[in-house]
Amino acid sequence: MAYTDFDALAGEWRRWTWPVFQMTLERPAPRELLHVMPPIPLATHPDGMFVVAGFNAPEPIQPARVYDPLEDAPRVFAAATAIDPADDAALLLFVNTWGLLGVSLEPRDPRDMGQYWESVFLVRKALAELRRLSAWLQAMKDGRWSDPALPTIDVPLAKRIEAYRQRFAVDLNQRLRRSPIRLELELDTFNPLFRPKTLADVLFIHLWQHARDDDTVARRCEACGGLFFVSSTNRKRRHCSFTCKNRMTRRRRYRREQAERRLQRIATKDRIGGQKAPQVQVATKKNARQSTGRKRRA
Ligand SMILES: [Zn+2]
Repeated sequence: MAYTDFDALAGEWRRWTWPVFQMTLERPAPRELLHVMPPIPLATHPDGMFVVAGFNAPEPIQPARVYDPLEDAPRVFAAATAIDPADDAALLLFVNTWGLLGVSLEPRDPRDMGQYWESVFLVRKALAELRRLSAWLQAMKDGRWSDPALPTIDVPLAKRIEAYRQRFAVDLNQRLRRSPIRLELELDTFNPLFRPKTLADVLFIHLWQHARDDDTVARRCEACGGLFFVSSTNRKRRHCSFTCKNRMTRRRRYRREQAERRLQRIATKDRIGGQKAPQVQVATKKNARQSTGRKRRA
């Protein structure tokens, strides 16, 4: 077999589901979990552990929901890069929305349906690394070579761009070494399939996929503050997802209505005072409809 046969290596991403369990942050970790087999990595770390609610109940624990992390990769990526890894409440919200990262699973661990617990420190560390690398990539894609997101390297100015790119590849490779893409055969069709194993893999593979592409840029979502990748010619897109776009639209509408109400109050006061009311933009049909809609929801 010629090595060039590998040029034809092709397959599809296997769709799979990742569970989201209801988690609590336990610090220190419950004593019962210090002796489970296989041992939980960093179980005694002072940062504590994310533990599934009702972990010591006899019956199997059902996830709050399951979802396809490949389909939702851009949203999970935005959520993961939006949070401050030092913020425990934000980390807990993340794992309760998207599930544990699976960073404490060893590469050869057969479990791939997520776990009931994970070291807070390891989740923090993985998300900090993702945040660091994605901000670094964003700066490079934008050509901001003196951005604080870039690490300090002791290289002459002329060679700095090359050095930053190489160092980025080394650092991302370091991370990807731990989370290889697995190859599988589809059971009935024998179609070749690729699959990540954990949620953390999905996040770093997303970064890997968008690192090379010269015609995409990384932008911060105006609603959630997370990063998303978009074609560099697409000047209009400012949100990571429809969810964030809708949230922003509602927020803007709410602010506009608040401003209009304030103006209306001033106008009423002025009329009572016998003065001429200022022009207030509230009378359009569209505004009237939106106002009532807002009231019904509130
Ligand atoms: Zn967003």
